[in-house]
Amino acid sequence: MTPEEFRQYGRQVVDRIADYLAGVEQYPVRSAVRPGDVRAQLPASPPERGEPYDDVLADLDRVLLPGVTHWQHPNFFAYFPSNTSGPSILGDLLSAGLGVQGMVWATSPAATELETVVVDWLAELLDLPAHFRTDSRGGGVIQDSASSAALVAVLAALHRASGGKVGADGITGRYTMYVSSQTHSSLEKAGRIAGLGAANVRSVDVDPETLEMNPAHLRALIEQDVAAGATPALVCATIGTTSTTAVDPVRAIGEICREHGIWLHVDAAYAGVAAVCPELRWINDGVAEYADSYATNPHKWLLTNFDCGVLWVADRRPLIDALSILPEYLRNPASESGQVIDYRDWQVPLGRRFRALKLWSVIRWYGAEGLREHIRTGVALAQELAALVAADPDFELRQHHPFGLVCFRPLRTDALELMERVNSSGQLYLTHTKIGDEVWLRMAIGSPATTSAHVATAWETLQTAGKRISPGRR
Ligand code: PLP
Repeated sequence: MTPEEFRQYGRQVVDRIADYLAGVEQYPVRSAVRPGDVRAQLPASPPERGEPYDDVLADLDRVLLPGVTHWQHPNFFAYFPSNTSGPSILGDLLSAGLGVQGMVWATSPAATELETVVVDWLAELLDLPAHFRTDSRGGGVIQDSASSAALVAVLAALHRASGGKVGADGITGRYTMYVSSQTHSSLEKAGRIAGLGAANVRSVDVDPETLEMNPAHLRALIEQDVAAGATPALVCATIGTTSTTAVDPVRAIGEICREHGIWLHVDAAYAGVAAVCPELRWINDGVAEYADSYATNPHKWLLTNFDCGVLWVADRRPLIDALSILPEYLRNPASESGQVIDYRDWQVPLGRRFRALKLWSVIRWYGAEGLREHIRTGVALAQELAALVAADPDFELRQHHPFGLVCFRPLRTDALELMERVNSSGQLYLTHTKIGDEVWLRMAIGSPATTSAHVATAWETLQTAGKRISPGRR
């Protein structure tokens, strides 16, 4: 593709994206295609000869768009939001255009140094402790996901708990880590990948009402494991669990970790970015004193398209020591000078995209003020929805909804049937969770396109659908 052809198609693509975002409401939120529908319309083999880019764009409309679920739709309330925004898309486009691979400082100094600046900026915006900043012992790094952040936290914790032996000898003793039934599955997966074994990923009880981790049970499990000869390596506390946005008591958990020298990882993948607002900073109580690592995802609720997860550590040494291997082909004077950061040592892959560009674009475009407004709008809309649910005797509201997620359940109809009915209508999209044996519906608000009117209409749609389903079934 010549630069002129690129210019021509590039304009078309940008126009299409702008049209798409402006008109996203015309699409059914959840794709209605059946398994295999998209694939069946695509040739089984690649073309022998290059094709005009117009044909690629035509297939986007004809084949792919019907198979797209519209995450940027104002009525997308499923899972957690995965927002994008103009500046984020432009930042990612620039990253693709520059085609930089920033595995070490020397392979593109700006990629590393912008990342350092941006993760420090975000730490400041979220009022995270000074020791998470790069000019201290700690620092931040952009990962592809909170799952990767969890994995490297587990590896660093194992490194520290074993005094570096795990890296040399593999896991020889019994190391344990602690999660709850509400912890995201990526922590258990990280334990598995790290070779801990399922039995050593211990599940701490939660309070049956609030679903917060029970510190007394955590202490009991740790003491039991230590008495049995195990070495506890990591505890994960969650700020904003995936199921209901429960907030674990980080301070109480941290005190126990401190007593036993255990690494405390805080998973704030969804809710952490809410701390741009001073009134929501209570969520981080105990983080400054006790957290060894902290992860949050701008790619969920901070207008930055997937993928962009940020991990901070209070002390970068165990992380780097756990992950750094220096083959001859990566040696270079800058790395050897000790004056630069090589973020390849802070993550699993070697290669790194220039992800900082999109986060930088977002922070510069919106400013702290704009980011706060975005979070406050999501929280306010969630409060509006909660009030609508509370006023309807056919539904039960879950009282905890400090962020953008509201959980509720229908009292006279089957929750899953109701959910499927509205989801298949294409008008809105929501998902569910289970608390004990009860199914609860989750509506997560967070798209910058969602307004009060969308929330009110979504609620009416649910009410009407509920009335159409035969009563008495739950
Ligand atoms: N942790 C929590 C609390 C989450 O809610 C999620 C995803 O929803 C994750 C971790 C995993 O995030 P990622 O997709 O970035 O790995």
